[in-house]
Amino acid sequence: MHGETVDWQALIRDVPDFPKPGIVFKDITPMLADGPAFSAAISEMAALVGPDVDAVVGIESRGFIFGAALAQKLGLGLVTVRKPGKLPADIHSVEYELEYGVDRLEIHRDALSHGHRVVIVDDLLATGGTANATVELVQKLGAEVDCCLFAIELAFLNGRASLDGVEVKSLLRCD
Ligand code: AMP
Repeated sequence: MHGETVDWQALIRDVPDFPKPGIVFKDITPMLADGPAFSAAISEMAALVGPDVDAVVGIESRGFIFGAALAQKLGLGLVTVRKPGKLPADIHSVEYELEYGVDRLEIHRDALSHGHRVVIVDDLLATGGTANATVELVQKLGAEVDCCLFAIELAFLNGRASLDGVEVKSLLRCD
């Protein structure tokens, strides 16, 4: 068992120039494939969640992996925030800036209600654009954000600062 002494760095593979030149992609597949490490990651992330949370919001697609496991661990439901055109019922949609161009995220209008308190989960925080769009979607439904929770935080990109007024927590910070 890895327990408290998991060497996360060893289980997250840096892949240079993926998906394009200049990006160092943080590949979490070795960590997911290691049962005790994945389990420890979910336990540690669960310990960072506040006591009065009603639901877990997972961001497509690697946020679904952590979000689903976390929801199970906490005994909560999972709300999915998806890429355009995937959700079948009535949606809210938010556009956000990418390095080149814009993208969109969507949530079902009936996924959350006024006063619900949620934790937003993704695998990695980079600039914060994806998480900010998700915060906006959650707030459109009248729900509150307990925190945004990530397995990995690329601290040098200052995503944390862009999530102004929202608590940000992460398992592993990369400087
Ligand atoms: P951002 O919106 O800039 O915070 O980017 C976060 C989203 O893009 C997350 O859903 C990540 O899965 C993905 N992402 C951004 N940068 C990386 C990276 N260097 N390695 C792996 N995934 C990344």
